[in-house]
Amino acid sequence: MRLILLGPPGAGKGTQAVRLAEREGIVHVSTGDILRFVVAWKTETGLEAKQYMEAGKLVPDELVLELLQRRLAQADTQAGYVLDGFPRNRHQAEELDRILEETGHGLDAVVAVEVSDETIVARLSARRSCPTCGRTYQMTTSPPREDAICDRDRTPLEIRDDDRPEVVRERLHVFRESTEPLIAYYEERGLLSRVSGYGTMDEVTERIAGAVKEVVAR
Ligand code: AMP
Repeated sequence: MRLILLGPPGAGKGTQAVRLAEREGIVHVSTGDILRFVVAWKTETGLEAKQYMEAGKLVPDELVLELLQRRLAQADTQAGYVLDGFPRNRHQAEELDRILEETGHGLDAVVAVEVSDETIVARLSARRSCPTCGRTYQMTTSPPREDAICDRDRTPLEIRDDDRPEVVRERLHVFRESTEPLIAYYEERGLLSRVSGYGTMDEVTERIAGAVKEVVAR
């Protein structure tokens, strides 16, 4: 199963992609997570990527594609994957088609998670992340067990640099401009289903799983 989860920042994409991958027994591949690791290593590539990420802009396609291609060449992706945060624009979508064609695979479904701009800004300002493991928490709806401490590794939680309000506005702009047109790109190919990102985490997971089933059965 090869799936894509599309949606603006703050749509709950990351959390839902992890859950969907677990359900389907496939791996979760997030280009945002990969980039944050590369940034943490402070390599030349990491330093370059950091500038774009801090400004809420897309990291250049060549850099992201190189990292993605390396990740998809690893053995654990053979049974399938959920892509989270990729593709982000038309060129990346076309390059993904090329990569899939080379390996003789096809995409099974693309699910677009939809929420309003107001919700996005509210959710991102209530979001805290663990700098050690990358896990994110919604302080209003799904806070950690202990105040601002990661449940998994007990690291104090932080606000991600790119969750600051001025950067959020830029990320939203980039989403509407570059990523949202991909909804039509996959819709034309009969691969897309839209779901509402509102409700409890479980409700959204059920909706996404149902949407995948529906697209695969088409
Ligand atoms: P995310 O965790 O998916 O919200 O990504 C965080 C940041 O990483 C984005 O705002 C971009 O700067 C960068 N990024 C993640 N995925 C991509 C991608 N596919 N193409 C370009 N930049 C990306």
